[in-house]
Amino acid sequence: MNAPTENRKQGERQLSRRWEKLPEFNPWQMALQQFHQAADVIGLDDTMREVLSHCQRELIVNFPVRMDDGSFKVFTGYRVQHNDARGPAKGGIRYSPDVTLDEVRALAIWMTWKTAVVNIPFGGAKGGVAVDVDKLSPRELENLTRRFATEIAIIIGPRRDIPAPDVDTDAQVMAWILDTYSMHAGEWAGAVVTGKPVELGGCPVREIATSLGCLYTTRRLCQKLGMSLKGARVAIQGFGNAGLYAAVLFVQDGASIVAASDTSGGLYNPKGLDVQELVRVKRETRKLINYYKDADHIGSNDVLEVECDILIPAALEGVITEANADKIKAKIVAEAANGPTTPEADEILYERGVVVIPDILANAGGVAVSYLEWVQNLYSFYWDEDEVKKQLERIMNKAFDDVFSFAEEKKVNPRLAGQALAIQRVAHATRLRGIYPP
Ligand code: NAD
Repeated sequence: MNAPTENRKQGERQLSRRWEKLPEFNPWQMALQQFHQAADVIGLDDTMREVLSHCQRELIVNFPVRMDDGSFKVFTGYRVQHNDARGPAKGGIRYSPDVTLDEVRALAIWMTWKTAVVNIPFGGAKGGVAVDVDKLSPRELENLTRRFATEIAIIIGPRRDIPAPDVDTDAQVMAWILDTYSMHAGEWAGAVVTGKPVELGGCPVREIATSLGCLYTTRRLCQKLGMSLKGARVAIQGFGNAGLYAAVLFVQDGASIVAASDTSGGLYNPKGLDVQELVRVKRETRKLINYYKDADHIGSNDVLEVECDILIPAALEGVITEANADKIKAKIVAEAANGPTTPEADEILYERGVVVIPDILANAGGVAVSYLEWVQNLYSFYWDEDEVKKQLERIMNKAFDDVFSFAEEKKVNPRLAGQALAIQRVAHATRLRGIYPP
């Protein structure tokens, strides 16, 4: 790899004329900043910029749900398809009180780059409902999911757009979507969602896939940097699906988890936390702060700044900013979360020589295994776990090598390289298809 300062100098021209500082954090504006910066790297023409800087389809639905007390409450949901030039749109559904159209748009465009960067035949989409699931009973959650599935059924489908779990949605939610969609279609439509229960055609590796992909790419980077994962100190922000399994898998590879946090707070022990105990506490009490073993209690965001070798942001967007980027001590940032680093912070980290494995690569294991699940559903032929893991490792290693070689060739940071490579692939597919009508 080239020295970061040298790269930085040569990369100065990457600062697009469209690149401006954000007045406040807005994921969609951030995604567009990143897009234009990456588009500059490959000299993307104005027509293609115009096409790819818009989402192809945006559906907003306001729908009533019957609550347990017999009343009805109206919820707002979104399904956004950014692009389907390379294949059906693909992306998760999140339930979060703060979800907005701009957040869903950003997550959709990142899905387009993610599927392109790992070179699987999907486009990018995302969905969400503005809801706090902790305030719903299981029946209300099912009612909400089935009604939302019906609302978006006009644009999703096994060969159109395939949802998956994301923040606060899980295999059960996917099972309800599968069932609702199949009831309306009048046929089994298992391939309409991925991340569903194994008994309904889900893939046993899917639950750990995002974290496994994060491990594979970090392992590859460690090899490249001459670092060992054995004994590496790892800090993880977020202890849900992505963060929890990252902790378990990195420890299996010999690393030590020195800090972890969730919304209840953070824990720090430079000698290492007991991961089995962290998992037990999280599963049984839902709050990491109930971990009683030796650890300092720190803030949820403080884990980002502890002494460590590898930092894994695995919670939300926009947590590494220009305000804290120079306080990050890790040598590697492996982005399990989507959009955790702002463009300003990216520049600072790059200048400081911190290597970021960008989200579209580091957390692409989830969508890669979703692809393998979808293929198996369409074929009605199922592989064993070892085969899926082998395929996943092959996909992730190839994507890692593609991104890091492109970064070296173009003398840009890995995020710009990943996005530029992805944009090149999507733009090429769009040109091959042509713009209809001609
Ligand atoms: P999740 O709901 O299972 O877990 C989120 C975790 O983050 C929870 O432990 C929550 O307490 C914690 N959290 C929230 N705000 C926090 C804060 N300020 N500080 C510390 N912790 C905080 O969600 P998930 O599926 O693990 O997703 C996490 C991130 O990974 C998201 O950005 C998501 O888009 C991304 N991602 C997930 C997958 C997947 O397969 N699950 C795939 C790709 C990307």
